[in-house]
Amino acid sequence: MTTKIHFSDARAEGFDFKYSFVAKFEQILDMIDFGEFIKEKDYVAVKTHFGSYGAHRIVRPIFLKKVVDKVKEVRGKPFVTDTVRIPGLEYLDVANMEGINHLSVGAPVILADGIFGRDHIKVESGPILKEIGVASAIYHAPAMIVVSHCKGHIGSGFGGAIKNLGMGGVSCKNHCGEAERGRIHFEENKHLEWLDAKCIRCNQCVDVCPHDAIQMVDDSIIIDKSKCVKCARCSRVCEVKALVVPISEEGFQEGLAEAAHAVVSTFEKGRILYINFITEVQPECDCMPMADTPLVQDQGVLVSFDPVAVDQAAIDMINNAAPLAQSKAADKNVKKGDNILKAVTGKDAQLHIDAACKLGMGNKEYKLITINEKDTKEGEGE
Ligand code: SF4
Ligand code: SF4
Repeated sequence: MTTKIHFSDARAEGFDFKYSFVAKFEQILDMIDFGEFIKEKDYVAVKTHFGSYGAHRIVRPIFLKKVVDKVKEVRGKPFVTDTVRIPGLEYLDVANMEGINHLSVGAPVILADGIFGRDHIKVESGPILKEIGVASAIYHAPAMIVVSHCKGHIGSGFGGAIKNLGMGGVSCKNHCGEAERGRIHFEENKHLEWLDAKCIRCNQCVDVCPHDAIQMVDDSIIIDKSKCVKCARCSRVCEVKALVVPISEEGFQEGLAEAAHAVVSTFEKGRILYINFITEVQPECDCMPMADTPLVQDQGVLVSFDPVAVDQAAIDMINNAAPLAQSKAADKNVKKGDNILKAVTGKDAQLHIDAACKLGMGNKEYKLITINEKDTKEGEGE
């Protein structure tokens, strides 16, 4: 079986609105029957990533607004949402700073797991996690549109729809304030390991922790387990690998797919639409405190009801594109046709795509339906 994906590239090959990326995205949305998966008065989660104080390569509000407008056309009630990464109120501040607010997107902007990142309902997941806390506002929503910015990721090698579901659809903490999402990053009941002999006392880990959970005290690293949400950022920035996250790559990637599957299981079949923007594909996740230059040229947008297909297509496009100069791909001397994402992240993204496929979340075989311009017969003069 082959999944059909609507695709538009990011180019604008003519001086007319109908050739713009925005117009081509509108055209794709017009070709999707929103009334098929959204009922009147349904609360519809538009799940995206709000970014961070240092990252700016997110899905822009102009595209989120287009999605929101389509939900409203079929009389659904959209809300734009993400889950707590840094403390909740600061994260809403980030969203606003990135231009995502009620005025810009035309819908309320809320945290799906609440301002304390604890609101969730436990859902059965699989052999690794057993169960995971799905963010309440996502759990209760009857329909969802997952709008993902495709990029690299420290643990999964690639962040697209499955990562947006698995990490982004679950709550930051459990009801007692302990790590919930972090249970994907860390093996069960384990914590960060600090290697004294390797540590060069640079303090980078202390500076990057958004939850004040790690301190340098008397020349030693102390981790406050009651505050640590197991996000692994400190380990990522430690250049000498003195902070070890206790999990195997396979364990993390399969856990991620399990969590994504759990989130999807809270919806009736066919009630989630996936939109992958392959634009400004930077090597790191959008929650890191910086955003590097893109690895490849903007490829475009993919839209489908199949999260596996849109992620597989995105990975294929990125890995088949020419690496850009002045990027991490160029630093690594990556050539066209190499696995760019693996070369820059050190992780094999295919592992979580395959795991999601095995869980029955979707299909790796896909066919692109390419849109080259907007049909402006009714919209002339825009
Ligand atoms: S994993 Fe590191 S950065 Fe993340 S909360 Fe824990 S100490 Fe802070
Ligand atoms: S980032 Fe690494 S080397 Fe620097 S203080 Fe932290 S553990 Fe030590």
